[in-house]
Amino acid sequence: MLVCGGAGYIGAHAAYALAQQGFEVSVLDNLSTGHREALRWGRWIDADLLQPQSLDAAFARPVDAVMHFCARSLVGESVIAPYDYYDNNVVGSLNLLRVMHRHGVGKLVFSSSAAVFGHPIGERIDEAHPKAPINPYGASKLMVERILADAAQAYGLRSVSLRYFNAAGAAAEAGIGESHDPETHLIPNVIRAGLGQGGALNVFGDDYGTTDGTCVRDYVHVLDLADAHIRALDWMDGNEGAHCFNLGNDAGFSVLQVIRAASQVMGRDIEYRVLPRRHGDPAVLVASSQAARVHLGWTPRYTGIERIIESAYRWHRDPGF
Ligand code: UDP
Repeated sequence: MLVCGGAGYIGAHAAYALAQQGFEVSVLDNLSTGHREALRWGRWIDADLLQPQSLDAAFARPVDAVMHFCARSLVGESVIAPYDYYDNNVVGSLNLLRVMHRHGVGKLVFSSSAAVFGHPIGERIDEAHPKAPINPYGASKLMVERILADAAQAYGLRSVSLRYFNAAGAAAEAGIGESHDPETHLIPNVIRAGLGQGGALNVFGDDYGTTDGTCVRDYVHVLDLADAHIRALDWMDGNEGAHCFNLGNDAGFSVLQVIRAASQVMGRDIEYRVLPRRHGDPAVLVASSQAARVHLGWTPRYTGIERIIESAYRWHRDPGF
């Protein structure tokens, strides 16, 4: 199994879960945002999707399927530097697809995102929801989904695009967790504030049309995401074509609810201050992941926000890196 981007947050958890299940893992990563310390499972191929000639090394040994996590993923940055986002996320994916095609590799699991939907219409977002991304990051993911549909037609490539809602949590027992620089995500920032690192938490807006005025998100544990990837591999054996599934817990938590839950888990008050809204944040994003449950047989194990936060907290208290 070739895991592209296996030194990053979600990719490293997938590499770990694959190794736990006895898969032989190779990780392709240029460590641009990934962590050398997360390269614990399988051999490492130091290659870059934007340097196509570097990719053949990953296919020197037979590759049954590819999981593709390589991407730049900061919404705000994507608005400022769209060329970089389209280059990395679209051109990089095309380069990977070409080299897979050349080596006769016919199965791909692709990291997509709820960002393909843009502003949500209605309560829960299922796969049929209109795709109208509102930033280059979401647009780049949607473009790759489209390329995969065309590749299924033209070349018979089998693929599953998994649209994550808010990935969170950690595999503290394996020494891996969420560490971005800069960290823009809520749960790591709440935990840092609770640990007294970096001052009070900034809450971006409390004037949304939600019950407490703060944004509501669907947090899904990173090991449940990894599990969905492994199920997608199996599923592709019996299913041709390009398919997309939403992955979330189908439950929303507001920013203030997350702060309260973290406070309970950590046994301390968490200081926060309310700032104006962050540009581009929709009020509510909650998945309907029924299709993944039915077709992939996926059932998230970390359904409570406390358990998700608790796993992240354990890692932050004692990070492997
Ligand atoms: N958020 C916040 N403070 C932070 C980070 C995030 O108030 O330090 C809010 C953010 O505005 C959004 C929610 O928490 O409403 C989730 O943000 P995150 O960046 O974790 O994920 P996103 O939904 O943007 O992918």
